Amino acid sequence: MTFFPLFHNTNTLKALLIGGGTVATRRAKSLIEAGVACDVMATSVSEELTYLIERSGGGVTIDAYATDEVMLGYSFILALTDDRAINKQVATDAKSMGLLVNVADSPNDGNVIFGATIDRAPLTIAINNSGASPVLSSILRQQLEQFVPKAYGHLASLVGGYRQQVKDVLPSTVDRSIFWHKVLQGPVAEAVFSGKQDEAESLLKNHINEVNHGLDKVMSNGEVFLIGAGPGDPDLLTLRAFRLLQKADVVLYDALVSDGVMALVPESVERVYVGKRRANHSVPQTGINQLLVDYAKQGKRVARLKGGDPFIFGRGGEEIETLAEQHIPFQVVPGITAASGCSAYSGIPLTHRDYAQSVRFVTGQLHDGSVNLPWPDLIVEGQTLVFYMGLKGLPFICEQLIEHGMDKNMPVALIEKGTTQDQRVLVSDLTKLPAMIEVEQVMSPSLFLVGRVVGLHDKLAWFKSPRDF
Ligand code: SAH
Repeated sequence: MTFFPLFHNTNTLKALLIGGGTVATRRAKSLIEAGVACDVMATSVSEELTYLIERSGGGVTIDAYATDEVMLGYSFILALTDDRAINKQVATDAKSMGLLVNVADSPNDGNVIFGATIDRAPLTIAINNSGASPVLSSILRQQLEQFVPKAYGHLASLVGGYRQQVKDVLPSTVDRSIFWHKVLQGPVAEAVFSGKQDEAESLLKNHINEVNHGLDKVMSNGEVFLIGAGPGDPDLLTLRAFRLLQKADVVLYDALVSDGVMALVPESVERVYVGKRRANHSVPQTGINQLLVDYAKQGKRVARLKGGDPFIFGRGGEEIETLAEQHIPFQVVPGITAASGCSAYSGIPLTHRDYAQSVRFVTGQLHDGSVNLPWPDLIVEGQTLVFYMGLKGLPFICEQLIEHGMDKNMPVALIEKGTTQDQRVLVSDLTKLPAMIEVEQVMSPSLFLVGRVVGLHDKLAWFKSPRDF
């Protein structure tokens, strides 16, 4: 049997649910939520269902199904009893009266079925596989949900309100289709998805104005997504980061962005390496800022991918300052910073009620390569220290911490290439770690953790990369 997808106007549906158990309750909930008038008839009806129906203004009849007369006045019948024979009878009767009927435990006995739905009102997506496997539909729904941002409904509402106006300005269907494609895949859509409803509306109005005056200029402006790529494991990318990478025209990335993450960038997207390694800047920062502006001005959607979180020791702020000055639309997508990623994947919680009530992220290296930190502030009981970019200066940092009063046996960890298949975790104390990193030839990027929480590693480590020991 095949099922043709139709979307029913809920105002004209009047439903009778025959059955009063858990499935009936679930159905009643979704139908009432959608605005369908529902009554229930069953030999016993759960308290929850009675409450739901009565609150919505419907009626509950305690009786067994005996005659098709009870269906008079309804347009939709749901057979939900736990007796297959009764359900079958209900379906036969309903069909002979020309009504819509759904049978919960035997879809083919009825003439309509429920799909797995994604609700982004006013947008609805429904999936059906002709009743073959509801679980399969639900798995597909979960996968689709990732690609349909929650704010899709807002976008639909926004553009729905301007359909007529655009029709008036652009009488040709081809022109209108081009217009809407640009709007729905460009800065207007992104403004809605990032919660900037007002900005989206004024951008849309601008576009309509421009088109009205024959200047399609604004429409061709690009935009920039400053995206945190996380510490390495591609699974740690956010859904928004993934979605924006799929729609980018060009990706600017640096050394910290892992190969696994780059593998998620579609083949068709242009890739530009602007990597930086310590003291070996391949593209200077001002050059990167300018590149972003140049690409956006060519009308491109530019994804600027940065390791970890762009606003934590990532110079992300500097890159978007230039964009803001030039009025280029941008948005920032947070990423999992190295501290969170390394902490989770090494089994070292950054805070713990018994050992650390605060955590401090510190950069182990200054602009000019030197290490100059407010040492006394760092020697605080119950505080975890996380040093970014601290590998080169590690012996000096350990020495200074001890000199300023930290217990020389304080447990410390160095996490190399955290969250990746090459992760290594070295656990030691302040006096022994410097020699250990020499012997082990630890490489960048590495994160240095200091504090009592490191002692939990033995018990809590769950992730083992092939290189770890
Ligand atoms: N914005 C990034 C940090 C950039 S500074 C973030 O939020 O994570 C670069 C430093 O981050 C490196 O020197 C190293 O200390 C740390 N780092 C980044 N990725 C790392 C990883 N996978 N493992 C260990 N340290 C990492």
